[in-house]
Amino acid sequence: MEQEIVEQIKNHNLIFKLDEPLSKYTTLKIGGPARYLVFVRNINELIKILQIAKWYNQKILIIGAGSNLLISDEGFDGIVIKLKNELCKIDLKSQELIAYGGAMLPMVIKTAVDAGLSGLEELFGIPGTVGGAVIMNAGTKIACISDNLEYIEVIKTDEPEDGLIRLNKNEINFDYRTSGLEENYVIVKVVFRLKSSNSEMLKARINEVLLERIKTQPLGTFNAGCIFKNPKHSFFTSAKLIEECGLKGYRVGDAYVSDKHANFIINRQNATAKDFVEIMTHIIKVVKEKFNVELEPEIKLIGLKLDI
Ligand SMILES: Cc1cc2nc3c(=O)[nH]c(=O)nc-3n(C[C@H](O)[C@H](O)[C@H](O)COP(=O)(O)OP(=O)(O)OC[C@H]3O[C@@H](n4cnc5c(N)ncnc54)[C@H](O)[C@@H]3O)c2cc1C
Repeated sequence: MEQEIVEQIKNHNLIFKLDEPLSKYTTLKIGGPARYLVFVRNINELIKILQIAKWYNQKILIIGAGSNLLISDEGFDGIVIKLKNELCKIDLKSQELIAYGGAMLPMVIKTAVDAGLSGLEELFGIPGTVGGAVIMNAGTKIACISDNLEYIEVIKTDEPEDGLIRLNKNEINFDYRTSGLEENYVIVKVVFRLKSSNSEMLKARINEVLLERIKTQPLGTFNAGCIFKNPKHSFFTSAKLIEECGLKGYRVGDAYVSDKHANFIINRQNATAKDFVEIMTHIIKVVKEKFNVELEPEIKLIGLKLDI
């Protein structure tokens, strides 16, 4: 079957790699090989690869910039899809900003700010693609990606032949760090409705936002941002709970709880997904014992389960 899949991929002129280490595509620099890694340059290619996956009953993983992923050391035995070229475009039509799923969020925000359009500036500094941000409903204490989103266009992973489907904001179950769209849809296009504002003011704001991140986060390390969601029914943030348990600096192998921000776990060099699972499990247990609060991962675990 494997040969047949490769033949199909080749017949459709798709760009692909076999057994490619996914550690190259995640900010944690962790992740074993993808059986098939396919780069899709337009909607037709995307539909084609989804059809091939469906026909051969292959598992699918869409990766953005891999800034919120912890992928198993064993890798992913299926088809990993990464959006490229046309699927990374950014367009402006008056106050409407159209970003394709693979566009980098910081570039999208810069485009808005340069055009004097307000609504996304609070999210500056969140790495990743606009597709990943929508799936995660990425955000900060102040704002999230869904705030000024008008509609998205998606392709269903299990019915790619249906083509592009429009979902208006009110049809999507956005909540804290979730969209409810996980695994069932590929985000192809995202349309934001922004407000006219002053470009210089917005530029000043993104600089402030960035400085705040530099002050509080261990940037420049291999990390995936906040590992755990902030608990709904606790007065404290996850970072505060972890810190209060004395876990700053705690390590398993090369996985290390940041001294600067206790909800960041850093891969110091050679950490494995196994190290991360172990350190996350330990943190959850210790916080549960001390505060009776169950931390829930914010990062997406691929092919992994926490031992709780
Ligand atoms: C230093 C740092 C700081 C961070 N700060 C924040 C923050 O302040 N707030 C915050 O919310 N997050 C933060 N994050 C986490 C991360 O940046 C966000 O979750 C980001 O939106 C993920 O985008 P991505 O493209 O990297 O997605 P990935 O990590 O590649 O994927 C995340 C999920 O989205 C899915 N996905 C990706 N693209 C698509 C698509 N086109 N269609 C369908 N599914 C898709 C993946 O399958 C996966 O389930 C931070 C991360 C780092 C490293």
